[in-house]
Amino acid sequence: MGFAEIIGQQQAISLLRQAIETERLPHALLFTGPKGVGRFLTAVTIAKTVNCLGGVKGDCCDRCPACLKIAKGIHPDVHLVAPEGATLKIDQIRNLAQQASLRPYEGRRKAFILDQAETMTEQAQNALLKTLEEPPGATLLILIAPEASALLPPIASRCSQLRFTPLPEDVIATRLQDQGCDEGEAHVLASLAGGSLGRAQELRTSPLQEIRDLVEQTFALAPGRTLPLLELTERVVRQKETLPLFLEALLAWCRDLMVAKVTSQEALLVYRSRAAALERQSRQLAPAQLLAMYHTVKQTRDGLGRYANPRLSLEVMLLKLRDLQAA
Ligand SMILES: [Zn+2]
Repeated sequence: MGFAEIIGQQQAISLLRQAIETERLPHALLFTGPKGVGRFLTAVTIAKTVNCLGGVKGDCCDRCPACLKIAKGIHPDVHLVAPEGATLKIDQIRNLAQQASLRPYEGRRKAFILDQAETMTEQAQNALLKTLEEPPGATLLILIAPEASALLPPIASRCSQLRFTPLPEDVIATRLQDQGCDEGEAHVLASLAGGSLGRAQELRTSPLQEIRDLVEQTFALAPGRTLPLLELTERVVRQKETLPLFLEALLAWCRDLMVAKVTSQEALLVYRSRAAALERQSRQLAPAQLLAMYHTVKQTRDGLGRYANPRLSLEVMLLKLRDLQAA
């Protein structure tokens, strides 16, 4: 429990624990990095640690009344400030400033966790500046944002920044298995999650099986026939959520085909349970074809956010893939 709950962020955690143990924790912290890698959990753990009644050095006990209240979000000195709607607004920051000016009610330090701090409006950031410049003694501010550059420079420069890195796939897979996921599924989820445990957990509830079927159909498209291709596009774009996942899954499949081409080590595959199919397919394709297919999918995935018409780019990609397989 406590800091041990946070996986894969040893560097950030050891710096923080050192600062806590030597009582040099800065009054304002900025946690940067992708979503779902432990920034929020770490912020909550710090809020617990500085208010814990359990007497653990440099950590929290997760059992005392203070830790339990923080976990439930009902501790009067620990505040979560999150966007209301799309942005974090000036009224929320004014409220924060007013709360910060008061002494802690029952804890040792007042802690404010600003989640998605990058959504602060400019006015909100300017309002926060004053609290950052003259922080009341017992106040701790923890800002969470993807990048320091997502905040106004005077805000970012007044916080001590700690970078949280994407998690290695095996770390994510192991944690998923600890949470009851079977090994094959954990492996696929971890490889599709882009280093984010949070994303992997979200994906657990997505229709992975259906997506894998779609991926396999993509490689079964007969040359010269367009009707199945259009049907496939239709099925993928019907659910907005499915498209990015489909492209990730397709990319993983292409990568697996390249792996299967050069080695028979199933452990290196994302889709281990489909090793036989991958082996069969990869035998029919030349390395240059496989590489071209991989790049085609990668280009489409990378460009997804920029395309005005995802349906069209998906169709173009599927056409290219079909022709590359037939080449
Ligand atoms: Zn405690």
